[in-house]
Amino acid sequence: MIRYLVLVWMLLLPGTGLIKGQIKVRLFASLTPESVVFAVTEGEYEINGFMGDPDVFRKNDLVVITKYDGRLAVKSRNGKGYIADSLNIQAKTENASFSLRVNSQAPVRQYYKGDLICYPDLETLVLINRCDVESYIAGVVRAEGGTQKHKEYFKTQAIIARTYLYKHLDKHLHDKFSVCDNTHCQAFNGVSSDSLINSALLETHGQVILDKDSSLIISAFHSNCGGMTVSSEIVWVTEQPYLTSIPDPYCLNSRNATWETKMSTEEWIEYLEKSGYTGKISDPALFSFYQNKRWVDYKAGSFTMPFEKIRKDLKLRSSFFSVIAAGDSVILRGKGYGHGVGLCQEGAMEMATRGNTFQQIIEFYYKGVIITNIRYAKVLLGP
Ligand SMILES: [Zn+2]
Ligand SMILES: [Zn+2]
Repeated sequence: MIRYLVLVWMLLLPGTGLIKGQIKVRLFASLTPESVVFAVTEGEYEINGFMGDPDVFRKNDLVVITKYDGRLAVKSRNGKGYIADSLNIQAKTENASFSLRVNSQAPVRQYYKGDLICYPDLETLVLINRCDVESYIAGVVRAEGGTQKHKEYFKTQAIIARTYLYKHLDKHLHDKFSVCDNTHCQAFNGVSSDSLINSALLETHGQVILDKDSSLIISAFHSNCGGMTVSSEIVWVTEQPYLTSIPDPYCLNSRNATWETKMSTEEWIEYLEKSGYTGKISDPALFSFYQNKRWVDYKAGSFTMPFEKIRKDLKLRSSFFSVIAAGDSVILRGKGYGHGVGLCQEGAMEMATRGNTFQQIIEFYYKGVIITNIRYAKVLLGP
């Protein structure tokens, strides 16, 4: 029997590290840093060191942490050094923030708020940022970006990112952190200092998208749908009532609205043959297929195959394209960019520019959903 639990903030999924509105984010998860430079950029930090009184660190103070013989070698501003098994660098003031510089092949420096936890693992230093959930979401919205800056669009992205976070909290259930900072979870390159993003976060604090059963939705989005979104079952097998195909008049003049690529007829036939085509078409003109609206399958004579498969195989920008036989070449003329399921980012930006609210944008792309506080969401606890 499936049991449900109404989310209570303080009891939220024990083990996920989400308590009192805080989250643990593994930083530089796609790199394997052996050494990192921590620098205070604002406020005060405290490190509980190897022995004696805790050290207090203020603006511009540095700590160099290096993986050393399965442990950590820690060196601070006054040259004081020691070895530790792990390190907990705690924010002591409300405004405390820090930067991290990772000594990988291409040095990267990023800015964070909250605490830093550090310990060695087999190949790397594990760096975990314990920070406020809302400040993490602001960073995700910043990383996702967008070509136009509009507050209603940032509010929309914030609610989508927050919904995604809570929906996928089980991704790192067996790790010592809740999420990682790369696209396995959501891209996070540190805090946002963009005042428009930060006020969009404040104004949508705690809000998520639920389906009619009060479950968190799969908040899928893509860059540009080309004028028509795609039903979820076409891309991911599972049907969702709120992820159905809709016409989108808003993204048609945006940056990623159209694309085109060309190949020789021979190359096209070679590709089709690999996919099961048996070479029975005598007139190359029969390879043409026009998608004025979205079709699921490409057809050439009696041969059919899903456009979605062609998109993946040939790494095309979208599955919404026409095949045009032109002499000894084949032109693929497409619309949109991405899988096409859920919210179309460029359409959403245009809706925001035309004066629509975030509610109107979300309800346009996700049909029949409810926007409400996370405390009203049901969480699946499993069988
Ligand atoms: Zn992850
Ligand atoms: Zn669109």
